[in-house]
Amino acid sequence: MDCARLETNLQRCNCTYEPCSRKGNCCECIIYHRRLGELPACYFTDQQERTFNRSISYFVQCNSR
Ligand code: SF4
Repeated sequence: MDCARLETNLQRCNCTYEPCSRKGNCCECIIYHRRLGELPACYFTDQQERTFNRSISYFVQCNSR
């Protein structure tokens, strides 16, 4: 089932990882990264996001300065 908010979500999504079938489908994106102990791209700045490091430890590192 397609997400009713797909287009709106895609406009807000800062993820540059291509291709990803979960892009714009935030529910699936969160579930995927949560299972891996990670956070979605939108928790990171555009510069941080481009590292593709979605770990919680990287998020804490980025926000502890
Ligand atoms: S944050 Fe992860 S799951 Fe979400 S769109 Fe980007 S690569 Fe896909």
